Amino acid sequence: MSNPSLLILPGDGIGQEVMAEVRRVIDWFGAKRDLQFDVSEDLVGGAAYDKHGVPLHDDTMAKAQEVDAVLLGAVGGPKYDDLDFSVKPERGLLRLRKEMDLFANLRPAQCFDALADFSSLKPELVAGLDIMIVRELTSGVYFGEPRGIHMEDNMRVGVNTQRYTEAEIERGARAAFELAMKRDKKLCSMEKANVMESGILWRDVVTEVHADYPEVELSHMYADNGAMQLVRAPKQFDVIYTDNLFGDILSDCAAMLTGSLGMLPSASLGSPMENGRPKAMYEPVHGSAPDITGQGKANPIACILSFAMALRYSFDQGEDATRLETAIEKVLADGVRTGDLLSDENSTAVSTSGMTDAILAALDASL
Ligand code: NAD
Repeated sequence: MSNPSLLILPGDGIGQEVMAEVRRVIDWFGAKRDLQFDVSEDLVGGAAYDKHGVPLHDDTMAKAQEVDAVLLGAVGGPKYDDLDFSVKPERGLLRLRKEMDLFANLRPAQCFDALADFSSLKPELVAGLDIMIVRELTSGVYFGEPRGIHMEDNMRVGVNTQRYTEAEIERGARAAFELAMKRDKKLCSMEKANVMESGILWRDVVTEVHADYPEVELSHMYADNGAMQLVRAPKQFDVIYTDNLFGDILSDCAAMLTGSLGMLPSASLGSPMENGRPKAMYEPVHGSAPDITGQGKANPIACILSFAMALRYSFDQGEDATRLETAIEKVLADGVRTGDLLSDENSTAVSTSGMTDAILAALDASL
């Protein structure tokens, strides 16, 4: 059988720096755990624009459709700010998400104990926090028609439409239930069924899908209450499933409970392919960070944790994903910090590759 395939798209700025570190981690798993991947690398964002005049070449798009998983760094930078909208680096990312039909966006909010002081909440509320928000990514009010700004009675009116089919709600719900099965078997669905018909349908469909996952404990919550509960007692949640708009807001809110942008991974999943694996793209939440590019200051952990998600959700290597996450936890507990994780200016930061050195040493020690 051939090895699972991985397409690496480092992109721009620190995307290239953190992805170089992920490659070292991939090599470690190949050498020490006999996990072999067919890895190919290509351009996206500004890097692709510089070479091809477009932020994603058709050949790269075709490759992304064929591989078992895509791992993306970050795109964008000041050099590209004045480009026409149609060729901006971000369009490369959007094209990947759209053409791969990645409808379930997974945003974990995980707080390593050693970083609990970094949160804006009290450490005891966030220490050990581990929740997963599943946001429906391809429908809802950001895409619904009619939309636009028009004149009515001499006044401008802005219109957007929240629209969900039951099929759209259902496929995201299945992804969320599947995830809950791999975690603590608790799912909370969030909508506004009290004031929105789309919310009533959402609640009905999620309840129907629940019949196929009787082991999962399902609860429903209005999204505004959900926001309140996330900052009041976030540890009550395991998996949260919500729509595109509420998910956009709730996932940013939950992620920031845990501290630095340099720590946050994400995954976007689509329908299963012929081999049963979902179409998938993994990427850190952060951007290309032009302010620190080329200085060896970037924290590679968000990107390395994105690879851990790929191990778990695309390659069924949950044990090795946990091994990698545990190594990161150990390194942080030992006080190893990149600059973004230091509040005290007198402390010493390790470099991007220094952080990976420490993670690889912890991985070695785990054998
Ligand atoms: P950003 O995430 O790049 O940076 C925000 C701040 O966080 C900066 O101070 C940066 O130094 C810091 N930071 C981010 N990641 C870090 C890491 N791994 N380690 C240490 N510090 C880190 O957001 P921005 O400055 O608003 O955007 C910069 C560029 O990135 C823009 O062109 C934007 O369009 C693009 N962007 C891309 C993505 C993506 O590719 N998914 C996401 C957001 C922004």
